[in-house]
Amino acid sequence: MKTVKFSLDKDIPVVAEADVLVVGGGPGGVGAAVMSAREGASTILAEQYGCMGGTATFGEITPMMTNHYAADGKLEHSISMDRPVYTELMERMWSYLPKELQPAASDTEWNSRRFIVSKDLISLAMEDLCLEAGVKLFYHFRLVAVAVENRKIQYAVFHTKSGFVAIRAKNFVDATGDGDLAALAGCRFEFGDTAHGLCQPMTLCFKLSHVDKSRMDNRKMQELYLKAQAEGRIECKRENVLMFGYFDDDIFHFNTTRVLGKSAIDALQRSEAELEGRRQMRQFVNWLRAEVPGFEHAVIHSMAPEIGIRESRRIRGRAYLTQEDFVRRSKFEDAIARCNYPIDIHSVTGAGTSFVTMQKNEYYEIPFGCIVAADVDNLTIGGRPISVSHELHASSRVMPPACSVGQAAGIAAAMASRKGISSSELEGTEVRKELIARGAWL
Ligand SMILES: Cc1cc2nc3c(=O)[nH]c(=O)nc-3n(C[C@H](O)[C@H](O)[C@H](O)COP(=O)(O)OP(=O)(O)OC[C@H]3O[C@@H](n4cnc5c(N)ncnc54)[C@H](O)[C@@H]3O)c2cc1C
Repeated sequence: MKTVKFSLDKDIPVVAEADVLVVGGGPGGVGAAVMSAREGASTILAEQYGCMGGTATFGEITPMMTNHYAADGKLEHSISMDRPVYTELMERMWSYLPKELQPAASDTEWNSRRFIVSKDLISLAMEDLCLEAGVKLFYHFRLVAVAVENRKIQYAVFHTKSGFVAIRAKNFVDATGDGDLAALAGCRFEFGDTAHGLCQPMTLCFKLSHVDKSRMDNRKMQELYLKAQAEGRIECKRENVLMFGYFDDDIFHFNTTRVLGKSAIDALQRSEAELEGRRQMRQFVNWLRAEVPGFEHAVIHSMAPEIGIRESRRIRGRAYLTQEDFVRRSKFEDAIARCNYPIDIHSVTGAGTSFVTMQKNEYYEIPFGCIVAADVDNLTIGGRPISVSHELHASSRVMPPACSVGQAAGIAAAMASRKGISSSELEGTEVRKELIARGAWL
């Protein structure tokens, strides 16, 4: 590739200083910032967009996947393993709904109201939790550079409407989903699966309204989809129509587009993926309206502002988990989160989605070392890009455990700042103890 010389050799303002700086305002970021502030640290959360939500909002994701435990293995008797921030977040989101739409005690089935996500209400709920905890929220701050000295991040540089600005902090949490902060700080990372070097595909999600549910026949729709695909009227490699219900009876959420082979950390490929996702959506909606009973009058109700990224960087940590840990249900004395969501891999090359599951009375644990960056001392990873294999990431990436991983990253950053040390100097067992004291289910 051709290159040009470019340098930003100028003074930029330090607009803020804090004990802890969290970059990214998704499920991981809210967990990190809220826990850090509750632990007594002055905490800033910087987010590139104008509100909280992360992929839940900008990728328009529903439902929350279950990461629940039940001694008898039954979902209806289970409790969320992701406490306290995740459960508080859901309760806050429900508080924005009228009584009749709030989940009833009997709504325990997966994809019942208990698990539905409104992209707008979850964003409001995240902001509420942050503000109530005393987190300073900096919106429209896009991380672009990091200054590192002696293995410690000194400050992070953001591009804003007032140009480049810096924020100083004692400890940092990378909650960008893509591991941007860690990568800019020079941390090593893994990318993709071992066979192809490819990540899970991207998906542009959207919702349709004005659907006549009484005339919908899911089995028939799946048959029609495969026929249209075989005859070339649907150019999307996904093997079926993946759809979910919503609060309103006539609205359905679609997680059906599949954009393969694009890298979320390559600027041009990420842009191409947006175009391809929307091309697939247009084609799919036209097909539904023309050929599928119940969808004749469907209207695009909302569309994710950006394509959803399932996987990108996985930052090298002090520990590393693989599918073996899922199979063995590994446990650790310094565990900071628990998970039993399946290994759920959308094919990286074409059709198919594979699952490795476990029962609700089982789980594996994520040790502290998986969220401690190996190459920088004052950085924890709060969310999706932790130190795990492609396969294990396909389990730990979903929103509830991402929020719990975030809360552990935030509490560690706060504890370290109070002691005047880097987060990597903490013992994982003391982080776990503090998480339990703050309401974590460990
Ligand atoms: C298509 C799709 C379907 C999914 N389905 C489900 C599902 O049904 N249920 C479920 O539970 N999970 C699902 N997931 C997984 C889940 O949404 C994510 O893994 C989860 O949101 C990760 O949380 P996070 O906080 O780590 O990252 P994100 O939610 O991605 O949040 C990262 C935040 O960081 C910000 N950011 C990024 N870079 C920068 C930067 N340079 N500067 C400043 N801010 C930055 C982003 O704007 C964003 O707000 C799905 C994911 C996808 C893509």
